[in-house]
Amino acid sequence: LMGYVGFANLPNQVHRKSVRKGFSFTAMVVGESGLGKSTLINTLFNTTLYPRKQVAPPHQERPKTVAIESISADIDENGVRLRLNVVDTPGFGDFVNNDESWKPVVDNIESRFDAYLEQENRVNRTKMQDNRVHACIYFVQPTGHSLRPIDIEFMRRLHQKVNLIPVIAKSDTLTDEEIVAFKQRILNDIAYHNIEIFHAPIYENEDEETMLEIQEISAKVPFAVVGSNTEIDTPDGRRVRGRAYPWGVIEVDNEEHCDFVKLRQMLIHTHMEELKEHTNNVLYEKYRSEKLTAMGV
Ligand code: GDP
Ligand code: MG
Repeated sequence: LMGYVGFANLPNQVHRKSVRKGFSFTAMVVGESGLGKSTLINTLFNTTLYPRKQVAPPHQERPKTVAIESISADIDENGVRLRLNVVDTPGFGDFVNNDESWKPVVDNIESRFDAYLEQENRVNRTKMQDNRVHACIYFVQPTGHSLRPIDIEFMRRLHQKVNLIPVIAKSDTLTDEEIVAFKQRILNDIAYHNIEIFHAPIYENEDEETMLEIQEISAKVPFAVVGSNTEIDTPDGRRVRGRAYPWGVIEVDNEEHCDFVKLRQMLIHTHMEELKEHTNNVLYEKYRSEKLTAMGV
């Protein structure tokens, strides 16, 4: 199915159309300061993102507690240009009272829905700009225990508004065994609290290779990530992106060391179309119909 082949491999016609319309994808990162959000963004796109002017959301003041920044970069995936927008949320969860730290994030996501809805209601809809958030990467502290109340509260408030992708931050600080156990506890907590995280559906007529790819990605959720923008020489003479320890080097791009590669593959290759479709067909549609009902339309 087309949704899984990645935007660089789309059939020519679709491809040309998408390129002409401007291929864009918006991801959001959420988590406490110091968990490696900015580092991971830079690692993901192997590029220094430049700040872009913040466009004030319509009918709304700028959030006062959690400052939300939007940055963009054009990245190249096998010759196709993709405009990538990353919404960063510095400061989330850093306050003495974090009871409502999810709120500015919800407001931001909803104001993007509103902006889209406004465009849909225009007579001329040829230049639709889709700034909706297609994926929210949620950074879980590498405690090795279980989810904290702030994690659960955040995910409960967000899961029906955005595709949630939980990741274990700085997973190089945990052992392999700790990661396995921690992942299981996180998944148990998520199930217990009826939180929906993003799962790619597997379609019936999927080819075997694609199916394997999807299964491998699903098996890694929540992704144990490591970010680094420094290149390091390994003892066997390779130059890798990674983090150096007295006992060795953790390689960002080595699937045996962490799940970074799988996360990247999911976001901008295997599941990008699916993330966009689910955002449009399910999450946005739910918001839209509730809003119209509330307005008595
Ligand atoms: P942010 O506040 O969430 O944006 O976090 P930053 O990306 O600014 O990173 C905070 C600090 O953690 C920096 O010193 C990074 O070098 C470090 N850091 C980032 N990612 C990782 C990681 O995966 N593992 C470890 N051990 N440190 C990391
Ligand atoms: Mg940061």
